[in-house]
Amino acid sequence: MLVHNVYQLIGHTPLLELPLDVPNGSHVFAKLEMYNPGGSIKDRLGMALIEDGISRGAITNTTTIIEPTAGNTGIGVALAAAKHRLKTILVVPEHFSFEKQTLMKALGAEVINTPDEGGMTGATAKALELAASIADSYVPNQFANFDNPRAYERTLGPEIISDLNGQPIDAFVAGAGTGGTFAGTAKALLNVYPNAYTVAVQPKGSILDHQPKGDHRTEGIGVEQVPPFFSGLKIDEVQTITDDDAFGWVKRAARELGLLIGSSSGSALAASLKVAEKLPAGANIVTIFPDSSERYLSENIYE
Ligand code: PMP
Repeated sequence: MLVHNVYQLIGHTPLLELPLDVPNGSHVFAKLEMYNPGGSIKDRLGMALIEDGISRGAITNTTTIIEPTAGNTGIGVALAAAKHRLKTILVVPEHFSFEKQTLMKALGAEVINTPDEGGMTGATAKALELAASIADSYVPNQFANFDNPRAYERTLGPEIISDLNGQPIDAFVAGAGTGGTFAGTAKALLNVYPNAYTVAVQPKGSILDHQPKGDHRTEGIGVEQVPPFFSGLKIDEVQTITDDDAFGWVKRAARELGLLIGSSSGSALAASLKVAEKLPAGANIVTIFPDSSERYLSENIYE
């Protein structure tokens, strides 16, 4: 395949039918989003946030981009901003992975850390505060910007339907951080398969879990507020997956399948297998693997 820039490599990732013994003779298909050039599902979002902002006139070639991020969106935004030579400041709670923060800087972004206690809410407040003091700045704000779910509705959902080549979808299982991936992809899939069973995956301690808020090691998912993108969306179930289950599957995926996945993928896999237990036999379950384990090696993901 001959390409002329890395941006042509965003999207059109493989859909892997997991070679696993799935309960009830069902099938789990995982979209391997680590094959995007920036290494995660968020390259799609970075491009959408920047290029939709440009086409709307909110971003010009002198605009400074400021975005709160857990990491992967920052890498996606930095990648897209590099294409347009835009100055970028990313606001990241300090505990998020060293590898992700290093990659953001490699792509030319400035990284500002906020205290862990404030979570993504604290990072968002800091990004808005910076924007108020920097003239000609733009905060895409992935948590509230409907360009976020639209990016997935436009690309990821239709790709999955086309990858399956006519095989129907009985269930869609995916993690939610901003909820953009889940909402946008679910919308596209439900358009074609309105009865598909939809499951949002959360780590223990998220507010969707209706349990006391708590810390988790699973990185990238766990909503702090109900995403605005969820309103009016058919969500049949919220599956709560513990860190032990998520990391257990991260390790098994490597040893048994040769698959290097991050913890939110481990969580999506654990949830998909639980969903298979309750659905009728032979169900086709689609899930998303957002990134690879390589960007969490400093966090001893395999120990
Ligand atoms: N997994 C990982 C590794 C992520 O970085 C993210 C984005 N924070 C997600 C899952 C969740 O995606 P979304 O924000 O679209 O809900």
